Amino acid sequence: MITASQLYDYVQCPHRVYLDAFGDPSRRDEPNAFVQLLWDQGIDHEAQIVATLGVTADMSVVPLVDRERETRLAMQRGEPLIYQGRLTTGDRMGAPDLLERCNGGYIAGDIKSGSGFEGDEGDGKLKKHYAVQLGHYANILNLERLGDCHEAFVIDRTGARVPYALDEPQGVRNTMSWWDTYLDVERLVRGLLAQTNTTLPALGATCKLCQWHSYCKSEVVTSDDLTMVAELGRSKRDAMITAIPTVHALAACNTQDFIRGKKTVFEGIGPDTLIKFQKRAQLLTTNGATPYLKRPIPLPIAANEVYFDIEADPMRDVVYLHGFVERKHGQPDTARFTPFFADGIDPDHEEAVFRDAWAYLNARTRDSVIYYYSKYERTAYRKLANKYPAVCDEGQVDSIFGLPVMIDLYFDVIKPATEWPTYDQSIKTLAQYLGFQWRDTNPSGAASIEWYHRWIETGDVSIKQRILDYNEDDCLATGVVVDGVRRF
Ligand code: SF4
Repeated sequence: MITASQLYDYVQCPHRVYLDAFGDPSRRDEPNAFVQLLWDQGIDHEAQIVATLGVTADMSVVPLVDRERETRLAMQRGEPLIYQGRLTTGDRMGAPDLLERCNGGYIAGDIKSGSGFEGDEGDGKLKKHYAVQLGHYANILNLERLGDCHEAFVIDRTGARVPYALDEPQGVRNTMSWWDTYLDVERLVRGLLAQTNTTLPALGATCKLCQWHSYCKSEVVTSDDLTMVAELGRSKRDAMITAIPTVHALAACNTQDFIRGKKTVFEGIGPDTLIKFQKRAQLLTTNGATPYLKRPIPLPIAANEVYFDIEADPMRDVVYLHGFVERKHGQPDTARFTPFFADGIDPDHEEAVFRDAWAYLNARTRDSVIYYYSKYERTAYRKLANKYPAVCDEGQVDSIFGLPVMIDLYFDVIKPATEWPTYDQSIKTLAQYLGFQWRDTNPSGAASIEWYHRWIETGDVSIKQRILDYNEDDCLATGVVVDGVRRF
């Protein structure tokens, strides 16, 4: 049976669908505490939303073996809103959270604990992984003559209804409709399950929380897979693999063989990117290779340096920690940690620590150079300014982050001006490469969120200290990378 979850997973990673169907279960990693938390939060969120919707037929209480029959009976009765129904047709099985009576038939909806839109909600772009799930439900309804449209909806984390008009094009540049996208993904999943098409493991951001991570990583290393090259992801690998199958082949090839004017023969990869990937491949395949500067990069000097990192919980939509490590220029042993930690999840707590952190940041711009890694801090501060206009406004946030003393270490320095013999350029990878060690055995932003949930539930001060230590180490690691770049 093809399920909506398989279509969702396929959009995230085709190989996960393959491994879930045919992989050796003993090779899976232990379940991740953060993933379990996401799961638990999703269930809680769904229960809260369902309580407000006026469900008229609840299939979640019906034993699974009887659920499809009861769902169909409920539809025959014309129930206005059915929760957790189950329907099958041919080789398709669908279990939409909601079936809503509409124009004599039914449309399907899912309750999501995330946003109904991709990235910036203002863009209004629908999520592909949600769209393929909803397309699957709509198709089953149409085939079973229980609905006759390509309409569906999501109830998002705020309880708002986001319509998914599946006949609409994905966007201006990609005019393929969501419906055709769904049909395409379904065709690919069917081929995968029939083993008439194959997939390969990859190394990418989506892998970090996947239960096949250790297994795929070992496979990728063994096969010398191109996705070990930083920023060379699955789709670029798939475009290149026939001509350039491995990292060693990339390192040794003549890139001019693949360059045609301003393009390469590989879709979506320009000449500069191909050459950049080759340099990274050469670093990875050269014994004793060291990172280097691609061009001189001026780092401003002030009496003090500050390394800044925040921790946020996207599920509760709260920034719970603003951490700053401050030290005298050139004197790492003077490092001092100043955290602003929200002891509760109420908006009052979040606003109070934001106010304190904002005042601290403003003061430090007068006598310090301030480093942070990537765009997250700026984006989060813009959101906080909109949420708490009594603290500051978005224009003030942009002004502060636009100051020459505010350095985005990743986008201003690491990405444009350095190369590293590493699989990625995350702060963890680079600082560890330079010899820095986090005190925690499991340092990650995802783990910090899980600790914060446990701290809120238990008030256990050792958990709070673990969060603070982790954040302090993130800030110190930023300093280690700054020092490393200076040495280059
Ligand atoms: S580890 Fe990565 S490549 Fe492997 S199945 Fe998971 S997401 Fe896919």
